[in-house]
Amino acid sequence: MRDAARRWRQRAASDHAAWVRERLAERYASETDLRTRLGLPVPPAGRPKRASPREASSVRGLHLADYPDLVLEWAWEGNADLDPARLAAGSHERVAWRCLLTAAHVWETKVADRTYHDSACPYHMGVRVHPAESLAAYFPWLALEWHPTRNALRPDQVTRASAREVVWRCEQGHEWSAPVYQRTLSGSGCPACYRLEAAARTKAGKTRARRDRDGAAMTKVVALHVLPTEGEAV
Ligand SMILES: [Zn+2]
Ligand SMILES: [Zn+2]
Repeated sequence: MRDAARRWRQRAASDHAAWVRERLAERYASETDLRTRLGLPVPPAGRPKRASPREASSVRGLHLADYPDLVLEWAWEGNADLDPARLAAGSHERVAWRCLLTAAHVWETKVADRTYHDSACPYHMGVRVHPAESLAAYFPWLALEWHPTRNALRPDQVTRASAREVVWRCEQGHEWSAPVYQRTLSGSGCPACYRLEAAARTKAGKTRARRDRDGAAMTKVVALHVLPTEGEAV
């Protein structure tokens, strides 16, 4: 089981890497597009490369507007009257950002985190789960079985492929624990309900078999009694 889980995680990780490469390519394309539309200067060879981690002193005298790639992620509607052209690049002011890859990804972090620390969209970095991409969004019926008090997180805070061990509670009140992916990918359910259903099936099967046997015996008895009468009538 642990082996299967590890293999599954490895596959998920490589799938995710491929997905990220694809999105980065898309992002690069859309960025180029945005640059053209906004009339921003196009760097000579792709994305500007800034050393990482950068020195705190590298932002001295600069403003956020001096980082065109960050200006593209500036959430204009969330930052009210703040002006990136007047915001110091080393500022510790928390501002709102909007992911270029997925418009629904909006988060807040210090300006300095973005200019000289390598902070990126927390939803894409796997640091946070967006509610619209969570287990609750994709599997609402599993969210209903999420134990209300025995879990540290909520179903809108984990991904549907999470390996996190979760406590579940079925409609009948049975409680058990299983990793999230086992419920979504393997489609496993409540083990107690499964045992009860299996027992009921066996019982129903036995009852049916007994009924069939009794029925057959009855037919024989009826035939023995009916046939001579019919013979007399003919
Ligand atoms: Zn994002
Ligand atoms: Zn159950």
